[in-house]
Amino acid sequence: MIMEASKDSYPKEFGAFLRAENEIIYEIALLPGTVQGDHYAIFQLYSKPIDFSLVGSVHSHPSGNRNPSDQDLRMFSNTGRIHIIVGYPYTPSSYSAYNRKGEPINIKLL
Ligand SMILES: [Zn+2]
Repeated sequence: MIMEASKDSYPKEFGAFLRAENEIIYEIALLPGTVQGDHYAIFQLYSKPIDFSLVGSVHSHPSGNRNPSDQDLRMFSNTGRIHIIVGYPYTPSSYSAYNRKGEPINIKLL
């Protein structure tokens, strides 16, 4: 689903928050006011509801480089503990996951 949304948004970025229960991410939450820019997805954090099922974020990098940018690292530190960056060409393995410090973590696809 994330890859499809990323493809739909290409060449713009796609961004959303991740919802999880019992450590399993089961839904992505698109927020009203999330703006897709040509180079970055802008998360309007003030509109984020207080919702503890939201555990992190996902966004796409149309460049294909899945390393977090400085802006990403700032966003990671504010928005939860699991952050996924998917990169062009958005195949099922075109993703990387990071913790709130931007360190790579392993996630399992179920
Ligand atoms: Zn990014």
